[in-house]
Amino acid sequence: MHTYEHSVLLDPDKCTGCTTCLRHCPTEAIRIKDGHAVINDARCIDCGECIRMCPHKAKRAVCSSLQNMGRFKWKIALPAPALYGQFDNLEDIDYVLDGLLKIGFDDVYEVAKAAELVSAYTRLYLKTDGVKKPVISSACPVVVRLIGLRFPSLADNIIHMLPPMEVAAGLAKERALKQHPELSDEDIGVCFISPCPAKVSYVKNGFADYKSRVDEVVSISEIYFMLISEMKLDANIKSLSESGMLGIGWARSGGEATAIFNQDYLAADGIDNVIKVLDQIENGNIPPLEFIELNACTGGCVGGVMTIQNPFISKSRLVSLRRFLPVSQNFLSKEESEYIPESYLFDELPEYHPISRLSDSMAESMRMMADIQKIKGNLPGIDCGACGAPSCRAFAEDIVKGTARLSDCVFNNPKRKGEG
Ligand code: SF4
Ligand code: SF4
Repeated sequence: MHTYEHSVLLDPDKCTGCTTCLRHCPTEAIRIKDGHAVINDARCIDCGECIRMCPHKAKRAVCSSLQNMGRFKWKIALPAPALYGQFDNLEDIDYVLDGLLKIGFDDVYEVAKAAELVSAYTRLYLKTDGVKKPVISSACPVVVRLIGLRFPSLADNIIHMLPPMEVAAGLAKERALKQHPELSDEDIGVCFISPCPAKVSYVKNGFADYKSRVDEVVSISEIYFMLISEMKLDANIKSLSESGMLGIGWARSGGEATAIFNQDYLAADGIDNVIKVLDQIENGNIPPLEFIELNACTGGCVGGVMTIQNPFISKSRLVSLRRFLPVSQNFLSKEESEYIPESYLFDELPEYHPISRLSDSMAESMRMMADIQKIKGNLPGIDCGACGAPSCRAFAEDIVKGTARLSDCVFNNPKRKGEG
C-alpha cells in the first residue's frame, strides 16, 4: 500500500502532552502516548490545525528550501496568489514578480494566471452532461483528502480538474521549452511558493497515479523576507503580470466560486465549516447547487499556516489591489472553449481508506462495532482526553483495535482512582 508522505511534523522535545491539539484535530488523528502527541499518518490530512493550536509550537510544517532549486539550469517561480496579500501598500503585482527575478528565479509563472484558465474550463465542465452535482472544487488538497477519509460517498462530486498550481507548472515548463529550445526537460525546475503544508504533501504524493509537475515547494514565509529586501519602487518597472481580478480572487474564500459566473454556488472556509457543509451534502440537506468551493483554512488560502500576515488583513489588501486590475487576462478563444484539454484533467481519484472502516471483513467490522458500543457504554462519556484519545468513543475504538487499554481511563483504573 502506498504510504502518504506528510508535511506536518511534531517536535517531541517541545510537546508537553497538553492535549490542545488532540481536541482540535478534525480527523481524530492525534493521541497522547507517554506524555507526547503522536500523529496517525493514515488519518492526518495536513490541515495544519494542530500547528495553529499548539501553545508550545511543537508542531511545524516541513517544506523545501530555496537552495534545492540550485540543481536546475532554469528556475521558474510559481507564486500562489496569496503571496500578493502579504505586503503593505502593494499597488502593483509587478513589484512582487520583479522581486522574484531579483532573488534568483529566471522566470515567473503566476498561479493566478493558471487559475483564470481553470475557472474558464470549470465553466465548461459544469455544462457537461452527466457531471454529478453539486460539483466540489479539487483545489484544496485538505478537502480532497478529508472527503476520502470521512465522506467517501462524495468522491464522485469532486471536479476532475487539476488545481491551478499543477496547471501552472505544466504551462510554465512548456513556455520555457518553447522560448529556450537549448534547454531540456531536466534543466527546468518549477518551484511553488505555498501558503500551506497540504500543498507540500500534494506535491510529494500526487493524486493517485498522477505525479506532480512541481519540483519544489517553499513557504510564503521564507520567500517574504527575501522579497522585501529586493522590492523597490520603480516607475519604469517591467510589466510582468498576466492575471486579473478573477485569478487573484482565488487567494480568498469565495474567489474560485465567483469566477464560475453562476449564482448557484456555496463557498465555505475553516475546517469546522467545511465539515458541516460536507455533512449536509451527504445527508441531502442542502438546496440544489451547481458548485461548492471549500477551503480548509479560515479566509481561504490567505489563512494558510505558511503565510506571514493575518488572513483578514491579507483579504482586505487583495480587495484594494484587485480594484486596479482587469477582470481577467485569460479568457478562452472560441476554439479553446470547445473542449477541456487533457492536460487540465486527472482521471482517477486516489484509492480511499475511510476512517470509519474498521476491517476489510464486514463480519469483523460489525463485531468490532458492537464491542466499541459495549465499551463506550462503560465509559464516563465526558470526553476528558485524560486517556490520550480525543473522545470516549475514539478511546473505545482504540481498545478494540488493541492500541489502548481500559486501564488508561482514569475512571476505570483502580490505582488512579485511589482504590489500589
Ligand atoms: S498542543 Fe499537542 S503538540 Fe502541542 S504541546 Fe500540546 S499535546 Fe503537544
Ligand atoms: S495536520 Fe490536521 S489532521 Fe493532521 S494531525 Fe494536525 S490537526 Fe490532525
